[in-house]
Amino acid sequence: MQQRIVVLAGGIGGARFLRGLKSAVPDADITVIGNTGDDIHLFGLKVCPDLDTVMYTLGGGIHEEQGWGRAGESFAVKEELAAYGVGPEWFGLGDRDFATHIVRTQMIGAGYPLSAVTEALCRRWQPGVRLLPMSDDRVETHVLIDDPDSEGRKAVHFQEYWVRLHAATPAHAIVPVGAEEAKPAPGVLEAIAAADVILFPPSNPVVSVGTILAVPGVREAVASAAAPVVGLSPIVGNAPVRGMADKVLEAVGVESTAAAVARHYGAGLIDGWLVDTVDADAVAEVESAGIRCRSVPLMMTDVEATARMAAQALALAEEVRA
Ligand code: GDP
Ligand code: CA
Repeated sequence: MQQRIVVLAGGIGGARFLRGLKSAVPDADITVIGNTGDDIHLFGLKVCPDLDTVMYTLGGGIHEEQGWGRAGESFAVKEELAAYGVGPEWFGLGDRDFATHIVRTQMIGAGYPLSAVTEALCRRWQPGVRLLPMSDDRVETHVLIDDPDSEGRKAVHFQEYWVRLHAATPAHAIVPVGAEEAKPAPGVLEAIAAADVILFPPSNPVVSVGTILAVPGVREAVASAAAPVVGLSPIVGNAPVRGMADKVLEAVGVESTAAAVARHYGAGLIDGWLVDTVDADAVAEVESAGIRCRSVPLMMTDVEATARMAAQALALAEEVRA
């Protein structure tokens, strides 16, 4: 029977891993539960950066070097908006990308839930996976930072913290606003319950996978699933491979090491964990926390290398199942 794999994914790390997974097991039935905590409303449009990064990457429309946004992009709309003095100028929306957000916003305005809209957008892109938003309800990650204009603190949208401020100011707390009242999107809990294997790709443990797990019912469903749960470390050599995950890990009191991230998820949630070969020393520490661990190359340099990582994750899942 077709292997059913569920992946909890953020943007770039999740999308690149999924491309390798599809190459490693082309016949598998893959359901992706995507993070929507990074979603933002701009110019009256609903933008879903992580869902779109997965959709464009698997659908062949991604800007390869950048890792997000469309290939062959132009920025005429952005320039025209700037000529009117209408920002924000720090969020890069290209002309091609704008079309996606217009279609999405139009469908949501007509009453379709985000899950149905995402399915409709995927009919064009044919990502070869079932892409589900974690929730149809609005969840927005906010970051508590020092307010430069007062003695106090203020909450800013995750994108403002990440893209405008480059995570350069200390984050005191990460709050998925709306998560407590959110419901998992249709199909999310069912996919987790029916999965043969559940994977955490090398996605951000706090603001990508952590936000998905914050939707009530999702963490419990993963923890109690019959399927083995295996994660791949986004931290290699005590630093994020790309981006600023160390900053949001610090905000939740977790060291930026492969072992600390495994312990943060915990043995109650994950059964297996892959660390990079440079972190081979971490294997014993992770295993002493009750999580089966192996060190293998974890750099997604190309699809072949990423496919080998995916195959290693599936092999570890079989090992913990046995
Ligand atoms: P985002 O939503 O675009 O930030 O993407 P994700 O949350 O899916 O993934 C971000 C994480 O992927 C970062 O913490 C990176 O350290 C990690 N990452 C990116 N490229 C690689 C890679 O080649 N190998 C590993 N192990 N992690 C990676
Ligand atoms: Ca993201």
